[in-house]
Amino acid sequence: MNRMTHCLLSLISLAVAASPGLAAEPAAGDVPHRIAASFQDLGKNVSPALTWKPMSLPEQQAWQHKVHGVLTDLLGRMPEPVPLDVKWVEEKSFEKFTRHKIYIQTESEYWAPVYYFVPHGIAKSVPAIVCLHGHSGINPYIREGQTEADRKKTAEHELDYAPFLAEHGYVTAALVVRGWNETSGFQDSGVKLPRSCTHVTMDSFLIGMTPQGLRCWDASRVIDFLQSRQEVDADRIGVAGLSGGGTLAMYFPVLDDRVKLAMIAGAFSSYRTSIYSIQHCVCNCLPGVMQHVDMSDVVASYAPRPVLLINGVNDPIFPIAQAQEGFAKLQQVYKVAGKPDNIEADFFDGGHAWSNRKSLQFLEEHFGPGAAPSMK
Ligand SMILES: [Zn+2]
Repeated sequence: MNRMTHCLLSLISLAVAASPGLAAEPAAGDVPHRIAASFQDLGKNVSPALTWKPMSLPEQQAWQHKVHGVLTDLLGRMPEPVPLDVKWVEEKSFEKFTRHKIYIQTESEYWAPVYYFVPHGIAKSVPAIVCLHGHSGINPYIREGQTEADRKKTAEHELDYAPFLAEHGYVTAALVVRGWNETSGFQDSGVKLPRSCTHVTMDSFLIGMTPQGLRCWDASRVIDFLQSRQEVDADRIGVAGLSGGGTLAMYFPVLDDRVKLAMIAGAFSSYRTSIYSIQHCVCNCLPGVMQHVDMSDVVASYAPRPVLLINGVNDPIFPIAQAQEGFAKLQQVYKVAGKPDNIEADFFDGGHAWSNRKSLQFLEEHFGPGAAPSMK
């Protein structure tokens, strides 16, 4: 073999060896990025098997029973219960309420921090609202924003529904959601706020639990506490939440029938157009849920308990079109249940925020007139 022949053969063998590699591993930018399209395609044929369709009241009640069972399973295993134990660690008086910082034992190794707001001058037991915060952490939700930006956010997004409702005569309990602030353990990487949603979610999934289930478990222990208090009417306890707290407020009535009404803000839309398609914290993920139900079915499963849906029409992460569709479906569900007025919506001109346009009216309507010493 002369030198020329050897070189040619070497070039041919290099080309043959390189060809499959070139096809399998194109240089960056040679083909369009397809991962998002792939998941849209994978999800295309996934439709909820238990989606609500028009039906009679007995059929609807049987459907609710079935959906309740499925959701309870999806929300995962729960911890072992422990007797109610509460530590009172701080008391601060404000113009219209006293705010206590307490810890409630919710399982053998966990004490949930709670800010407990009691309006001044309560003459008889009043309704209480469990308030659940979103992904800004507890501080801006209880008017304890550490920075000017936090305080601005509290004002502009009306995050302070716990103290606000206390100012209007309701007892409120703002739970520090597990994995947030002082309860954040393994800090989420790339996030400045104190949170460990990734760790909470991954470890929950690995042991058959879910972050939503565990956080609702803690909220149920808050109800145990509320029902032990003289100033609280044990039969009139509700939930309010925005964003991640809104998601919990949507699931909480599934797991606890002592939750007599829910105000769900910045969280209700469809799974497909919000959590599935737009970047959200991993703690929003409830594995497999899209195969069974949509968000409107979750709420329908506990109709006719009163629900106020609060959505900014410009919320970029929970699209309003599907919120409106879901609301229209829920109006039919509540009609079948014989309580059409128990489902309401405040679709306000704004973004990802709370709104008090209808909250007080909704509470007064469903917890009865004069239920709270109004200070309006
Ligand atoms: Zn999260």
